[in-house]
Amino acid sequence: MESQRNTKQKQLILSILKESNRPMSINEIYALVVLQVPKIAKSTIYRNIDSLLNQNLIDKYHLNDNEVFYRIKADSHEHKHFIICDDCKKVFDLPSCPIHALENAMEEEGFIIKEHLIQISGICKTCAKGHTKGQ
Ligand SMILES: [Zn+2]
Ligand SMILES: [Zn+2]
Repeated sequence: MESQRNTKQKQLILSILKESNRPMSINEIYALVVLQVPKIAKSTIYRNIDSLLNQNLIDKYHLNDNEVFYRIKADSHEHKHFIICDDCKKVFDLPSCPIHALENAMEEEGFIIKEHLIQISGICKTCAKGHTKGQ
């Protein structure tokens, strides 16, 4: 049986991920959770996240040198690709997958496509503003 407190904490983590709508590292999640549950331990957050993963409510990604990020399951079944900010290390969704047309073309050529990986790095909007200000 799951305690009421656990359920509440999981709801909080879910709502944080839903609101951000992009992948977040455990540190980012933790920083927002402690604002509302000041005494929470990181291990508790890990436990809650594991349970959300088991319930298939969130996805787990290894990005940016194998750091782990969690993202609320997308509404669509479209898979996701990401862009990572070199400055703040935040991860953002790419608006869509640009590879399908290429894959289809290759399949017409007779290839059997297995998977593809795309990872773009750059400077996010917020950090880019800081850059220009500093110069
Ligand atoms: Zn940034
Ligand atoms: Zn893709």
